[in-house]
Amino acid sequence: MTEFDGKVVLVTGAGRGIGKAIALAFAAEKSRVVITGRTAAALEEVAAEIRATGAEVLASSCDVTQKPQVNDLQHTIKTHFGAVQILVNNVGIAPAAGFLDMPDNLWDEVMRVNVSAAYNCCKTFLSAMIDARWGRVVNIASTVARVVYPGISAYATSKHAILGLTRSLAMETARSGVTVNAVCPGYVNTELTRENARRLAENRGKSLDEALAMLAASCPQRRLIEPEEVAYVTLMLASDRARGITGQAIQVDGGAVMA
Ligand code: NDP
Repeated sequence: MTEFDGKVVLVTGAGRGIGKAIALAFAAEKSRVVITGRTAAALEEVAAEIRATGAEVLASSCDVTQKPQVNDLQHTIKTHFGAVQILVNNVGIAPAAGFLDMPDNLWDEVMRVNVSAAYNCCKTFLSAMIDARWGRVVNIASTVARVVYPGISAYATSKHAILGLTRSLAMETARSGVTVNAVCPGYVNTELTRENARRLAENRGKSLDEALAMLAASCPQRRLIEPEEVAYVTLMLASDRARGITGQAIQVDGGAVMA
């Protein structure tokens, strides 16, 4: 038995990348894992991997930017597993554009996916945690919640907002047995970073490998972070022994940001 044995964990955006690694990490601890995303095929592949470990999994397609879909998800989870005890808000997109060139719909989309999705899930799943007097919310933010770079104003604003939500909810739940924290990764070895590198390669006339090497070089450890490293810190924050940690943002970035 581990402390996560049987715990109901919801991971958003778990079809690949960081979300998938977090789902697999909880499954390894025998949690009952709910994985969501919009692409059913990707979710099914992750679900099969989880089942192979012997853990219970519920794969449910859901666009978490749509509140009615999140409400439906809550009913489905309740029927299968009961109330969500650990919520990992992971979905996110990171398009780049200079502020004045940025189309309004790009700004709206980033706010919807990176901020409103977490709002929808917290609004839906938090009250059962408070009623149970135990719960964990882990928001996957970014180092860009702490520092900014040019050309990503929508992304940076959204990740600062997630930190604001994290701190606000931590304050409002402080006496209820619930903790709310953020993990702030640097460049992680996922499709999102490859997309980033493709853009960089195009702009700078470099190959994809050279662009990836440039991103890795921006980290003092001269490497990309692996998704499993973000999963490790997420589990740590979700553990019972971390009950004194709330409202915090923990960087997993090889030393890139030290503030
Ligand atoms: P990926 O692009 O690899 O994966 C994102 C996942 O989110 C996909 O499975 C996608 O699946 C899902 N998703 C996107 N939109 C929605 C939606 N509206 N509803 C449900 N699911 C959705 O990203 P990463 O794993 O790299 O990133 C995960 C998080 O970590 C993001 O919040 C990102 O900002 C953050 N982060 C990432 C860093 C990196 O370098 N990669 C660095 C710092 C932070 P589908 O399209 O099927 O819905």
